[in-house]
Amino acid sequence: MIQTPGRADAEALDRADPLAAYRDRFALPPDICYLDGNSLGALPGGVAEAVAETVEQQWGVGLVRSWNDPWVDIPARVAGRIAGLLGADPAAVTVADSVSVNLFKALAASCLLRPGRSTILCDGGEFPTDLYVADGLARLLGERARVRLIDDGDFEVPLRDGADVAVVLASHVSFRTGAMRDLGRLVAAAHRAGALFVVDLSHSAGVVDLDLASSGVDFAVGCGYKYLNGGPGAPSFLYVAPAHHEAARTPIQGWIGHADFFAFEPTYRPAAGAARFQGGTWPILSLVALDAALAVFDGVSMAAVRAKSVALGELFLARVAPWLAPELSRLASPRRPERRGSQLAFHHDDGYAVVQALIERGVIGDFRTPDVIRFGFAPLYLRYVDVFDAAEAFVEVVRTRAWDAPRFRERGAVT
Ligand SMILES: *Cc1c(COP(=O)(O)O)cnc(C)c1O
Repeated sequence: MIQTPGRADAEALDRADPLAAYRDRFALPPDICYLDGNSLGALPGGVAEAVAETVEQQWGVGLVRSWNDPWVDIPARVAGRIAGLLGADPAAVTVADSVSVNLFKALAASCLLRPGRSTILCDGGEFPTDLYVADGLARLLGERARVRLIDDGDFEVPLRDGADVAVVLASHVSFRTGAMRDLGRLVAAAHRAGALFVVDLSHSAGVVDLDLASSGVDFAVGCGYKYLNGGPGAPSFLYVAPAHHEAARTPIQGWIGHADFFAFEPTYRPAAGAARFQGGTWPILSLVALDAALAVFDGVSMAAVRAKSVALGELFLARVAPWLAPELSRLASPRRPERRGSQLAFHHDDGYAVVQALIERGVIGDFRTPDVIRFGFAPLYLRYVDVFDAAEAFVEVVRTRAWDAPRFRERGAVT
């Protein structure tokens, strides 16, 4: 039986929180409880200043001279920072493009590394862009590739007879339910079948304690604007396992991925390591923002981040569980914290209106069609009392049907 915590318990957790000081490094508006860092991370201090300096001084005054100092060093520095959070060798990580584009490159490279096999295996419940990109690649490759969707989250059965599987694609943490897959088991199953494994870390980078270097994962992609706080449309990252550094080829052979891009050679020679997956000119303004955002993680133990993430989720659940009868709302996430990333999701037939009513109360979560309410927990800027208050508001809105008003049903283009 879970004991229902009180607000004093949450305050005590805040007093004992080793990460408590990091909240001051974010520019959060007062009176907002922000539980949507899994969609767009909060603004870290220092980002606005870094971008302003880049625009006004480096671009405005330095002009093209700024490419040599300081811009050319930024992409590798950002990749190094992300590598640290992923538990990866810095040469195995590169930062470029969106997740969608990096996924295309990773899947195409995987298919090229497994000639004679044509199946791209992924879960039909995957984030839509991942499915669209896999489908688009299969159309481009014609006979040589097809997408096979599984619908029960179980890869092991199709992999038992997996002689045709070139690559398995899966999210580590589900964007919808927050369910976290057992990476080690999946990688082993894919490799036993002779397939490669591509993982989407969009919902785990920056909140889950990862060890990519020893995971066996072949390629990984992930998002720069969720828990890494890089800002709207921040560049994403691509990890390429060192074992593939010699043989992996990108389908987008841009000049920045060339071994010597200012030699202007007529033929493409791939750069060493993951950097060959670069395409065109670096988006410096976005990289500067991401670099400054990642500086907040300097010296942070990812084990401590994960521990707080679990504790925040457990506090929220303990607070809502006694009040949320199944007819009011059902938990969509796994009950056991070791099976979850850093979010809790709930089913509610009027979930959209519930989220709008919560936003009016200063509690920002989000809604994913058809009926899922999501609350993400970003341990660097959330206090236990925030999560406690958000849980109170959620219970109140659902139990009193405060969501049941026309103004909460009006939909914007982005939910
Ligand atoms: C957020 C997210 C993306 C985002 O893709 P972009 O191309 O960067 O917009 C992709 N995949 C998953 C699983 C995500 O959660």
